[in-house]
Amino acid sequence: MIINPVKLDKLAQVAIKVGLQLAEGQDLVVTAPMTAAPLVRRITEHAYKAGAGVVTAIYSDEEATLARYQHAHDASFDKAAGWLYSGMAEAFKGNAARLAIAGDNPMMLSGQDPDKVSRAQRANSAAYKPALQLIAGFDINWNIVSYPSAAWAKLVFPNDSEEVAVGKLADAIFKASRVDADDPIAAWAEHNANLKARWTWLNGKSFSALKYTGPGTDLTVGLADAHRWKGGASEAKNGITCNPNIPTEEVFTTPHRLRVDGYVVATKPLSHNGMLIEEMQARFEGGRLVELKASKGQDAFNKVLDTDEGGRHLGEVALVPHSSPISASGILFFNTLYDENASCHIAQGQCYSDCFVGGKDLTQAEINARGGNSSNIHIDWMIGSDKIDIDGVHVDGSVEPVMRKGEWAN
Ligand code: ZN
Ligand code: ZN
Repeated sequence: MIINPVKLDKLAQVAIKVGLQLAEGQDLVVTAPMTAAPLVRRITEHAYKAGAGVVTAIYSDEEATLARYQHAHDASFDKAAGWLYSGMAEAFKGNAARLAIAGDNPMMLSGQDPDKVSRAQRANSAAYKPALQLIAGFDINWNIVSYPSAAWAKLVFPNDSEEVAVGKLADAIFKASRVDADDPIAAWAEHNANLKARWTWLNGKSFSALKYTGPGTDLTVGLADAHRWKGGASEAKNGITCNPNIPTEEVFTTPHRLRVDGYVVATKPLSHNGMLIEEMQARFEGGRLVELKASKGQDAFNKVLDTDEGGRHLGEVALVPHSSPISASGILFFNTLYDENASCHIAQGQCYSDCFVGGKDLTQAEINARGGNSSNIHIDWMIGSDKIDIDGVHVDGSVEPVMRKGEWAN
């Protein structure tokens, strides 16, 4: 057996019991690549054991996606299945929980026409917005976990046979998701408590900005007014405390969309919707990413940033120690869920309204007034390493160390 069935079952349990804390009677919407069906089946079983109402799985298929790029008429690339996302939004308004399984081939679209890719993504983002707003606004409990599909595994471990690569990626996923522990649920409780201690400290400081310095990086990220740091377990508006990302190592908050200035270089390649963007260098002015260079994927990523007005502004800033287990594994996963948790990162696009004091009740206009950004994209990219120092800037301009050489300063 390539993928340990006991650990796969534990991962499904963690997704339901820790990731979602699925409530009795709650419906569940699962999205997954077809290759992840073995995990979807385990998750469905645990969901019903936990008292789920109806579990609905929506599968995507790489071959079908590629068939569109090969054979669809040009007009197809400005269309999206809006009816599906409206239905998902309807389900969330009825308190359905949301579980996404990541595991697609990260390079799926790398050989396709970048213009068609970006048009299709733009159409999809716009159509997805009604559903995404309920997820990003944390109306309902949601969770994302991963499954080691063969194409993804071969990208991460190119020198191994497919079978060995899948086994290795599965083990890395299990370890990062803490299902290796004897009692994964207790391990998650401890991890959540550690993250809470970090964000409690940061909230107490109420820094007005973070200042990053390191090779190629001299960046000041202003924080939004009345921002709030979060991380690990978190309460959704429906009253359920869930762990949205599995794995997660970050504490994060909302930057001010107009107060980001300076230079920053990416410390890891970014894998975004089947493209790989390498060696990014960015310059920010008044919060806007005014210049983006990359050794690979530069044009394609600039197109993505131009999706809308908010695409070049930041919506998230996150701190992750360089010694985090995912970083320590030394594996480049080509998957943001993993790679962002190996490194301090920032995100272009939509902010999380819950990263504000009283955020659950704020209108979009109030969020914007405090410096929150809105966009149809949310793309995390990695700027942390063991060479980066981060200072917290107080309102009066005085500074104090937050991280030194990629580790918490205290
Ligand atoms: Zn993040
Ligand atoms: Zn993010």
